[in-house]
Amino acid sequence: MPDHLIETRRRRTFAIISHPDAGKTTLTEKLLLFGGAIQMAGSVKSRKAARHATSDWMALEKERGISVTSSVMQFPYEGKIVNLLDTPGHADFSEDTYRVLTAVDSALMVIDCAKGVEERTIKLMDVCRLRDTPIMTFINKLDREGRAPIELLDEVESVLKIPCAPITWPIGMGSRLKGVYHLLLDEVHIFEAGRNFTRQDSTIFKGLEDPGLAERIGAEALAELRDELELVRGASHPFDLDAYRAGHLTPVFFGSAVNNFGVQLLLDFFVEHAPSPRGRSTTSREVAPEEETLSGFVFKIQANMDPMHRDRVAFLRVCSGRYDAGMKMLHVRTGKEVRIANALTFMASDREIVATAYPGDVIGLHNHGTISIGDTFTAGEALSFTGIPNFAPELFRRARLKDPLKMKALQKGLAQLSEEGATQFFRPLMSNDLILGAVGVLQFDVVAYRLKDEYGVEAAFENVGVATARWVRCADAKKLEEFREKNAMNLSIDAAGELVYLAPSRVNLQLATERWPGVTFAATREHA
Ligand code: GDP
Repeated sequence: MPDHLIETRRRRTFAIISHPDAGKTTLTEKLLLFGGAIQMAGSVKSRKAARHATSDWMALEKERGISVTSSVMQFPYEGKIVNLLDTPGHADFSEDTYRVLTAVDSALMVIDCAKGVEERTIKLMDVCRLRDTPIMTFINKLDREGRAPIELLDEVESVLKIPCAPITWPIGMGSRLKGVYHLLLDEVHIFEAGRNFTRQDSTIFKGLEDPGLAERIGAEALAELRDELELVRGASHPFDLDAYRAGHLTPVFFGSAVNNFGVQLLLDFFVEHAPSPRGRSTTSREVAPEEETLSGFVFKIQANMDPMHRDRVAFLRVCSGRYDAGMKMLHVRTGKEVRIANALTFMASDREIVATAYPGDVIGLHNHGTISIGDTFTAGEALSFTGIPNFAPELFRRARLKDPLKMKALQKGLAQLSEEGATQFFRPLMSNDLILGAVGVLQFDVVAYRLKDEYGVEAAFENVGVATARWVRCADAKKLEEFREKNAMNLSIDAAGELVYLAPSRVNLQLATERWPGVTFAATREHA
């Protein structure tokens, strides 16, 4: 098999989805430990304060090094290369999360055994369903008293509408937690607090007949387990690889991330069965990962990762072919050829220069304002990947400067920060206002803070009479010109130079749509 195929097939690119506090950070850390990517527990920890309050988010940003390296974490495991893409926890960053989920081939869902399926899990699951993303489930915090395992599976099936195939099954819970039984391996793994860090650290019994097992967990617990397994085997679904890969069945694991229990069983199963890079759609054709020429798309941009250098990095998911340091790529939207010598990779603890990257990998391109979210890069073909949208913001504010002489710096700051995709920046045709749009109100605080911190500009955000935004398109140039003239009051240019209708009210938008049938008003912007 050619190298390129071998490398592609051993990639596993995924993200963890969960409701805040279910244990995503803890699990990430344990996975990195198994991957040898970090030596000690605790290094992912400090970034997690993020999601609860603005001030925490700011603190997080101060520890930029940590938040950056955890954007993409790559580590080898059992002959596979695992790429774990981080998703922001706070609901105000849901667009970011949405786009990260377009760049993965599968997802891992973490559920708190006491809380069951929570609101954000439901939303994220909906996003995964759009692309039939295969999902594995980890039911966490088994060391605490939670709900009955059968009940939890029922809830996943009925609320998230996905059949469950339990792979491990808990023996007891909370203070009575004895271990888990692996239904496919027919093995009992004993829970030993403070151990279970590797398979060698764990006590394992083969089969339920092992006389040592009854001795270890007690005859009563064993009898209970037998009864429960009978019930589970009858009531749940057997594991079916095709159904899982089609996104129609979720394998379920039980464990305790903080105790490292059940995590390795999950990881072993994950690298064996999770899909390798899948094909992607473009405006003209399907791209298969096996293709030999390079293609990829930008799903995330992060500004000022290193405040000393004002650098911005565009995260590119490789979809086909191979990236080699120094190669030329076509930046399809601009039509320019660029030589990329210093793309970054994210080997968990450090940014380093990457020599080669394969489908499923993510590389960081230095961006000086020319790259936007959704952009495609190829070895020369004019492809354009679809499905990586910018959403119309729902909240709008006008930026007001404390020091009018700082106008240039303000414009630059707003434009650069909006490249990250969390906020969008509009310049009205008819005024000198600078309008910022966002999906969550926290974004305005974050932008104000970062403007001051990173650009030395003090700005406040005040209300402005805008209800919603729509990207305007019209095939007929003459008609577009007429539309522009008649609606100049409500038109703006966004950071990518596209024309946007800022509607003062929903009613106004509806009227405009009816009045101009040849003009489309799009709620998302995707590069054509
Ligand atoms: P995230 O918000 O999903 O990233 O959740 P964290 O990983 O930060 O975990 C939230 C809280 O749950 C923290 O206090 C963790 O220490 C705790 N936690 C995580 N896993 C477990 C577990 O297996 N058992 C118990 N008892 N607590 C856990």
